[in-house]
Amino acid sequence: VDLTKLINERIREVPDYPKPGVVFKDISPLLADHTAFAAVVDAIVAYYGRGTIDKVVGIEARGFILAAPVAYHFGAGFVPVRKKGKLPAATYTESYDLEYGSETIEVHQDALAPGEQVLIVDDVLATGGTAAAAAQLVRRSGAEVAGLSVLIELGFLKGRDRLPELDVHALIQG
Ligand code: IMP
Repeated sequence: VDLTKLINERIREVPDYPKPGVVFKDISPLLADHTAFAAVVDAIVAYYGRGTIDKVVGIEARGFILAAPVAYHFGAGFVPVRKKGKLPAATYTESYDLEYGSETIEVHQDALAPGEQVLIVDDVLATGGTAAAAAQLVRRSGAEVAGLSVLIELGFLKGRDRLPELDVHALIQG
């Protein structure tokens, strides 16, 4: 089967969400389809290979859904990066600018150990602000970013350009 076709057929485009002019990529139909969901997880795992990754970081909230089965397949731990105020213990914090306003994300200070190889996983790479901040959190923890895996890269937003030092692996272009 053609992975690109399998994925593309199960991404729903929702116009004017969350605001007018934005076409939101909704991955819900893909997650609901066992074949497509499994193929996506397998493709991410195959790209890096078992044994190369110590921890998988998932970015709240859809990143969690993809990162957890990837971590399971690697035999690696799962670490959540969450929006400010959601993690209960001591955290590292990174803020970044959005089109209007800013966003803050956090990771537990004891979640990653120095020297660990970390794969960051999210559903969509847009402007790259979220991924850049997540990579900073990993480095603040003393760990190394082995790469960033996303299901969809919105290439026209040039997010990859904000992540020059990262191995960015996208399953499809949106
Ligand atoms: P960025 O920081 O601009 O790269 O935005 C990426 C973050 O926004 C990711 O955590 C995505 O989950 C979310 N995001 C941006 N655009 C979309 C979309 O079209 N569909 C789903 N999530 C999106």
